[in-house]
Amino acid sequence: ATPTALLVGTGRGAQLGILIKGPEVLESTRRVDTVVLDKTGTVTTGRMTLHEVYAAEGTGEDELLRLAGAVEHASEHPVARAVAAGAEEQLGTLPGVEGFENVPGRGVRARVAGREVAVGRLYDALPPEVAAAVDEAEQRGRTAVVVGWDGEARGVLAVADAVKGTSAEAVAALRRLGLTPVLLTGDNRRVAESVAEAVGIDEVIAEVLPEEKVAVVERLRSEGRTVAMVGDGVNDAAALATADLGLAMGTGTDAAIEAGDLTLVRGDLRVAADAIRLSRRTLATIK
Ligand code: ADP
Ligand code: MG
Repeated sequence: ATPTALLVGTGRGAQLGILIKGPEVLESTRRVDTVVLDKTGTVTTGRMTLHEVYAAEGTGEDELLRLAGAVEHASEHPVARAVAAGAEEQLGTLPGVEGFENVPGRGVRARVAGREVAVGRLYDALPPEVAAAVDEAEQRGRTAVVVGWDGEARGVLAVADAVKGTSAEAVAALRRLGLTPVLLTGDNRRVAESVAEAVGIDEVIAEVLPEEKVAVVERLRSEGRTVAMVGDGVNDAAALATADLGLAMGTGTDAAIEAGDLTLVRGDLRVAADAIRLSRRTLATIK
């Protein structure tokens, strides 16, 4: 009877848009009590857009946007896409870059027209004018992208994406299964808290570097919690593998899909609750 019950479970899973790596995956769903949700691309759409450009005294807005857009053009990050698309839309073709470097969870660097340009969160100290612009952007729930060159921060680009229309419903469904939702992100605390509030999450872990996401999952497990993690990014892959149950968004990166135990094919977070409910039910049939 056991193999049949499992097959029924996984067949129904396929109908719901859930791909299960193997029947052994189902076992961990029984004890899961915590579900860690990545923010960008999982709870939010991950399609960010450029909202505001702020240039410090002595710097032109177009110049700032042109240099930032040129560097971000070489990156796949959602923030980078927003900046590059916004820059191209306003300014047309962007200049080429040399010596591009990606700093995971922080930003990008490259040489553009003889300048050493940095974009993201790469400056330790900000001039008061730039710090004030960061503050204002974050107060509006935007991600503040600092742009500078030749060792000096010179302005801020404010980008934001939208919370998915289905995320609040998904969080409520996860809660009904007895799970405590936790929002995990590399993004700044204020943005994370505004997203958490919008979808009904109380526990927020923000400003976490990509390599620290695994440590967060390990810490929660060491506290005696059984952890499911839902994510989509390259940054989430190690954490998905470390969690008791890793759920990858099918709309996400290959790295995340390979690391997960389950894939939510359509990238619909509501299906995470369906997946846990279905596998618990399948296990109940076997026992
Ligand atoms: P998340 O955990 O939400 O998926 P990441 O860990 O990928 O976010 O990135 C964390 C933060 O690092 C971003 O919110 C952004 O501030 C900054 N960042 C990362 N990559 C870039 C980039 N290419 N350009 C600008 N900022 C970046
Ligand atoms: Mg993500």
